[in-house]
Amino acid sequence: ESKRTGRNKVTLFKNEMATQAAELLKLERDIMKAMFRDEFYFVLQPLVDSETHTLKGAEALMRWKKDGETINPAEFIPFLEDSSLIVDVGERILNSVCRYICELDERKLLPKGFKIAVNISAKQLAKHDFIETVSRVLLKHKVAGDKLEFEITESVALNNMADTIKKIISLKKMGISFSLDDFGTGYSSLSHLKDLPVDKLKIDRSFINDITVDKQDENLVRSIIQLSRNLGLVTVAEGVETQAQVEWLMLNGELLFQGYYFSRPLDIEDFEKTYLLEATSAHAK
Ligand code: C2E
Ligand code: MG
Ligand code: MG
Ligand code: MG
Repeated sequence: ESKRTGRNKVTLFKNEMATQAAELLKLERDIMKAMFRDEFYFVLQPLVDSETHTLKGAEALMRWKKDGETINPAEFIPFLEDSSLIVDVGERILNSVCRYICELDERKLLPKGFKIAVNISAKQLAKHDFIETVSRVLLKHKVAGDKLEFEITESVALNNMADTIKKIISLKKMGISFSLDDFGTGYSSLSHLKDLPVDKLKIDRSFINDITVDKQDENLVRSIIQLSRNLGLVTVAEGVETQAQVEWLMLNGELLFQGYYFSRPLDIEDFEKTYLLEATSAHAK
């Protein structure tokens, strides 16, 4: 009896592995098709000022339109990362963002000081020709580097700190600013943080979630804000969803906000309607 159950379990396990392998193969095939058909695009989520709630920038977030259905990054970015396809797809996103910045500029819709932040994977930054790639894309669309921000996570620094720092410095010379994304979730030590020449620190939304109910998270976020200020960085609170969180954060520092409370990530047309067309017409008044 027990031997039989054991054998069944093994079969079940084998079947499960086969199913998983088949699913992965299908995902791989779908992604290759998606690259060929250019099905990856980006949406924009605004960053706002805590005092005035005015637009300070936006983050470009990748999406995949598969058979008319929008797929979120959690379902395909891990695969892109593992297979290194993120290098290719990431470059396409950077290219689309720069093309869009150029278009906004031509339409006189680009607010002063407005930047679009692009997430850059550790694998992209590690490429020996990353700097050349970026300068080629900027040149192609005649975009100034100061219209761009790159978001990197603490993990970029783990591999080759010296190389990472050198590249960040070169890109900053082109006018591109840097923010450290998902702060608090990685493994980097404080000495890493001190050495990374970033401009902004984004507190991960897992810490923001419970600031109004969890004393420990409250203390943690307070210390992160203090740390960020002491390092001379601009602090961003990610994943702000409630009025109570906004109030708590406003009492605890001068921050930028990003989160559903202000806006979900928007399709370009909606982003323009809500933030850019309004801003320029208000300006004209
Ligand atoms: P991230 O860079 O930390 O982006 C913030 C994520 O939080 C986005 O998820 C955004 O939609 C979500 N978010 C923003 N406000 C709220 C909120 O108030 N509540 C909640 N629950 N979520 C909020 P998204 O778009 O699913 O992206 C997930 C991650 O995928 C990103 O995290 C980033 O690490 C990665 N990613 C997205 N686009 C790209 C890309 O172009 N390249 C690379 N390498 N990674 C990307
Ligand atoms: Mg990000
Ligand atoms: Mg983040
Ligand atoms: Mg994240």
